[in-house]
Amino acid sequence: MVDDRAAGIAAFIEPLRVEPGTKVHLAEDFDPGYKAGIRKKKEGVELLRGGIELLADYQRRLAAQDTYGVLVCLQALDAGGKDGTIRHVMSGVNPQGVSVSSFKVPSDEELDHDYLWRYACRLPRRGEIGIFNRSHYEEVLVVRVHPENLERQKLPEAARGPDVWERRYREINQWERYLTDNGFKVVKLFLNLSKEEQRARFLKRIDVPERNWKFSAADVRERARWDDYQRAFSQMLSATSTQWAPWYVIPADHKWFGRVCAAAVLGHTLIEIDPQYPQVSDRTRRDLAKVRRELERQAPEGAASDPYAESAGKPKKRGRSGGKG
Ligand code: AMP
Ligand code: MG
Repeated sequence: MVDDRAAGIAAFIEPLRVEPGTKVHLAEDFDPGYKAGIRKKKEGVELLRGGIELLADYQRRLAAQDTYGVLVCLQALDAGGKDGTIRHVMSGVNPQGVSVSSFKVPSDEELDHDYLWRYACRLPRRGEIGIFNRSHYEEVLVVRVHPENLERQKLPEAARGPDVWERRYREINQWERYLTDNGFKVVKLFLNLSKEEQRARFLKRIDVPERNWKFSAADVRERARWDDYQRAFSQMLSATSTQWAPWYVIPADHKWFGRVCAAAVLGHTLIEIDPQYPQVSDRTRRDLAKVRRELERQAPEGAASDPYAESAGKPKKRGRSGGKG
């Protein structure tokens, strides 16, 4: 089925994609304030509404087909907008078809396993969209910027050498290749925030009492390592944007625009999967017709033999779609 929105969405997200094999210098290559020429937030909000409807439609088909799964990896600096992106972009989809996993400092049990284990445990099922709020990429980000995290991972000597990051990039690429080949598409979104916008958002978290809980002194300590993180992000984007799982750098200084972009990238992936409702065989259709005749015979005195067929001919009161599946 060709979706007439496909070409527009593909063109919209093209400037955000990290071309596999290219070397990224985050500060020069991607502008956190980019808005694709959209001047008014109102226009963006309209676009997002369309994106949310598209996602809801495709997610129903993804779940019904039960063949493909989608893993969305969200990475960002603190206050980059991961939580808000999940809240807004997924607001239209059936919660039964979505799982969200947040990854924090690893527990003792997690440290007792290989570094990808805890992420593998949270992978989506077929038919499901799984969201990683932080992901296996922390293993080449926070762990790289703070090597004491690596020391806690109980690795054998040979796995701790200077080639550890190159090796992890390769292992991650191979793991994602394996998932893709087996029906699990990996969507990778990096919310790219400017240092000044992060400062403003931290201040807001301090100024607004209802947001105080979101502020942590550790976030300010991490901010002091800004340049190290920018380097780690740039290297990660260069090494792990692949043909099967490319990175998208989402401009995050305007929250509304970042959400439009995130919805567009996820929509693009679902359009590519093009999930279909299962078709029933002729034989099943004949069986269904037989059951229908029996149910019609059971209609009580005065009732329509098939109330659904009866109302289907009449103009409907249109609410949100549903109720028929
Ligand atoms: P938050 O997402 O703000 O609740 O914070 C989660 C914290 O867990 C962040 O400070 C991350 O840097 C940290 N974290 C996530 N994954 C890892 C990891 N693999 N190793 C060490 N720290 C991590
Ligand atoms: Mg935090």
